[in-house]
Amino acid sequence: MLKVEHLTKMFGGLAAVNDVSVEFETGKINAIIGPNGAGKSTFFNLISGLHQPTSGHILLDGVDVTNMPCDKVARLGVGRTFQTTNLFEQASVLDNLIVGHRLRTESGLWDVLINSKRLQREEKAARDKAMEALDFVGLTHVAGQFIADITQEERKRVAFALALTTDPKIVLLDEPAAGVNPEETEGFAALMRKMVDNGLTVCLIEHKMDMIMSLADKIMVLDHGEKIAEGTPEEVRNNPVVIEAYLGG
Ligand code: ADP
Ligand code: MG
Repeated sequence: MLKVEHLTKMFGGLAAVNDVSVEFETGKINAIIGPNGAGKSTFFNLISGLHQPTSGHILLDGVDVTNMPCDKVARLGVGRTFQTTNLFEQASVLDNLIVGHRLRTESGLWDVLINSKRLQREEKAARDKAMEALDFVGLTHVAGQFIADITQEERKRVAFALALTTDPKIVLLDEPAAGVNPEETEGFAALMRKMVDNGLTVCLIEHKMDMIMSLADKIMVLDHGEKIAEGTPEEVRNNPVVIEAYLGG
């Protein structure tokens, strides 16, 4: 499904991602772990087309998506969340999702001026898609509330829903459960299992080790931009190189 070959991203003299090759399987939960600054978010930025790699290739279902702009990558089925999501505080949860969708539709200014059939069709599609995403993440009951009035945990779920409005095949989740309590964390784990049960491929950056260890099918460990290990949770947990990276400092 997602194959990355010798991916490198330089920021000046710093290799934020350094010659990483990895394959993520369809319908699995793939995790990326590593200390702060290891290059995890940059790795996501490369896959989603937000940053262009310095070298290397990214293949999605055999299609070379390297250097494609992020909107095109999104249309090919890559959805994502960000470590921090900017939402419109004084707009409803539903409107936040519709805006996210509208930015990606085909209608031009002309359609807006004449309120064309196409625009009306797209508006309805955006609304339906947003409601579907809200239902999936369990937020139907706050659809009409302002972002400013919902809880931290609900905001995180809105970020999930945003990633789902693009009809992704693979979702990249950047620390989706950061800052939520253990009980809520379990809720997010359940949500990710549900995504996989619905045929999605999940790619997850997370610091919560117990969550990763019980949830992930496969783990890649990054350190200073390099892949230092990969395998099942069991393999990674017992890997001396990983233990050194985390405890060696
Ligand atoms: P992680 O998500 O694993 O904590 P990041 O991918 O955010 O790590 O960052 C990896 C390294 O790349 C860090 O040293 C960070 O400072 C650097 N970096 C990330 N984004 C940029 C950028 N846009 N410009 C310059 N340096 C960056
Ligand atoms: Mg990060």
